[in-house]
Amino acid sequence: MKLGRYAARTDPGRKRRGNEDSYVSRPPLFAIADGMGGARAGEVASALAAGALEESGAGQGGEAHVVELIQEANRRVHERASTDAETSGMGTTITVALIEDDGSVTVGHVGDSRAYLLRGERLEQLTDDHSLVAELVRRGELSPQAAEVHPQRSVITRALGTDADVDVDAFSVAAEPGDVFLICSDGLSDMVDGEQIEAIMNTHRSDLDAAAKALVQAANRAGGEDNITAILFDLVDGVPSGEPDERTKEIAVALDEEDTLHPEDGVLPPPAAEQVAAPADTMVVGAADLEAAIAAQSPEPPQAGIGRRLLALAVIAALIAVIVALVWWGLAR
Ligand code: MN
Repeated sequence: MKLGRYAARTDPGRKRRGNEDSYVSRPPLFAIADGMGGARAGEVASALAAGALEESGAGQGGEAHVVELIQEANRRVHERASTDAETSGMGTTITVALIEDDGSVTVGHVGDSRAYLLRGERLEQLTDDHSLVAELVRRGELSPQAAEVHPQRSVITRALGTDADVDVDAFSVAAEPGDVFLICSDGLSDMVDGEQIEAIMNTHRSDLDAAAKALVQAANRAGGEDNITAILFDLVDGVPSGEPDERTKEIAVALDEEDTLHPEDGVLPPPAAEQVAAPADTMVVGAADLEAAIAAQSPEPPQAGIGRRLLALAVIAALIAVIVALVWWGLAR
């Protein structure tokens, strides 16, 4: 198993001035970082993380190696954020896919940039978002449908750069010939649902650059609320030669906003019915704040409410009984 073709595309979307997404497309290593922070700090954070990965070089070594790559990127972002007042508080997501010599693909991630796998004609989401709404869905307190339009869907629970240490999720996928992997920022996955992504990838399976372009276009058609980045690569039979396949091509195009709205792209304003409340800027909450944020989200379970009310009634009844007893005792004397 070895790398076949690959393509990467990034686009500011239709609402944001800058592009705070950064990516690495350096086979066998692919990654996307989606930065956050005031002014241009988000751009700094994602560029630092991507730069750290590029510098480390891909290497090999499975999950432990990918975790180490991501932790090194975290150290770089955190060090800068703690020494440069202008970038204080900045952070970034990171999602990495590394093609190993044995044909497996190691995925590591922090935050809500996703990895998907198209196998056969079916798309599977490989990563679990580290986000407030994903946590609520996992706890059964929010439906996946409600999560898609939740106003706080940009709140992530883990990021690179906000702490000296970071908890990284990593796993390995045994790839099969014809597998197509997609890594993307939430500017795609928030605007285009899994079914649509699956349909677009199936349509453009033989031309991954066309697929990347169609995904960006779909996100812009749906409103383009955020920066959009997509990387696609597929795996084919064969032994890795160290060099990408002959047919391999990389087309990475950063479209400016004018291009985004070019009539040839057929980007139309989103239909009113599909518009959902724009998410607030991405921010991260720590583990302690997460519980508070979740408590603020979820209505009190009805039984707890009833129990508390019954307790209050019992206390009042007991007080009345004491007063009555005192009055009766006073009168009796
Ligand atoms: Mn984003």
